Amino acid sequence: MTEGDGRRQYNIWIDPDGQVWIEDPDRGALPLAEALQPGFELVESASALPPPRLPATRTAAAPGPWPDDLAGLWALHDRLLAEPAGPANPGEPTLLDLKRAIAARLFRSCVLCEHRCGVDRAAGERGVCKVGPTSYFADAYVHLAEEREIAPSLCVTLTGCSWHCVYCHTYDIINRVDAGTPLAEPAYAQLYAKTADARTLSFVGGNPDHHVPAILDFLAAAPEGFNRPVVWNSNMYGSPELYKLLDGVVDVYLGDFRYGNDDCAKRLSGLPRCWEPVTRNWKLAKGKLIVRLLLLPGHVDCCLVPMVAWLKAELPEASVSLLSQFHPTYLVAKKAPELDRTPSVAEVAAARAAIADAGLTEVEPTAGTER
Ligand code: SF4
Repeated sequence: MTEGDGRRQYNIWIDPDGQVWIEDPDRGALPLAEALQPGFELVESASALPPPRLPATRTAAAPGPWPDDLAGLWALHDRLLAEPAGPANPGEPTLLDLKRAIAARLFRSCVLCEHRCGVDRAAGERGVCKVGPTSYFADAYVHLAEEREIAPSLCVTLTGCSWHCVYCHTYDIINRVDAGTPLAEPAYAQLYAKTADARTLSFVGGNPDHHVPAILDFLAAAPEGFNRPVVWNSNMYGSPELYKLLDGVVDVYLGDFRYGNDDCAKRLSGLPRCWEPVTRNWKLAKGKLIVRLLLLPGHVDCCLVPMVAWLKAELPEASVSLLSQFHPTYLVAKKAPELDRTPSVAEVAAARAAIADAGLTEVEPTAGTER
């Protein structure tokens, strides 16, 4: 977490194997990593990412006059996404402008995520995520230890979440939804300047879904020639409408796949339903897919194994990122005592074996640090 004076504070712990983890490291953490683990080496990816789609969406024409009703706007959007109308003339609206107009409508009766609260966020009403009319980011730093394909990534850490997990490790960001810096002018220039040191631009949280209107406004203001791939780091609980809006904007979905059944999702994250919307959304997401499997202690058979089986059957081309660094925090001791430990060596081995047996490709983490 970045302090008010610009210095960052790091959480560090050692797992039962003696491995040292530094949470959310930026370049300032490198001397620390080298001191804690002699011989530490930061490995950056040499593989190419698909070309960013945002530049085309920012310049593709969406000629007016536009329909007044939401259904008409969607029809125009879907047509232009399938059959681009060519570059916009100066002053003419673009496909990104059309997405922003639709996002502003969805904001007034919020259906940006699967909860579909229907509240008027622009008027200050709040739904399950508790996020109001202004989008705040709690932090923005170049993260060195995201999955190697996308690191280093400028992570814009937005507040609030549509899930309320008892083990949340960013609970300060989730709960203080109106703390931080508004994602609006005058913050844009400083954020874009930070992308110079990054391979990708990630929207993360909390969760980015409920901030889509502010994010699209931010992307519309990108400097000429901005071409970093956009990463959507989410819980994959958006609405189908959200995934349509992100089509043509987001290049990489770095998403969670946490629960193999609705009972665990309800008990640990307060979700009325989870399996159907999350599996649906993995199929709606258009871009490179990196599926984060969070290994919760005691949840190999009930959660990890069914998720791996589904991926094998439905998304065998997706990259899988096993997160084995779970450590108990927040409300675990009170509400889910069975999670009050780190995953055992046997559980990590069982998870890795299940992924390998399914023939899924596991991404390489950036060594020695936590993602
Ligand atoms: S983003 Fe989701 S949780 Fe938040 S108000 Fe909208 S529908 Fe509700």
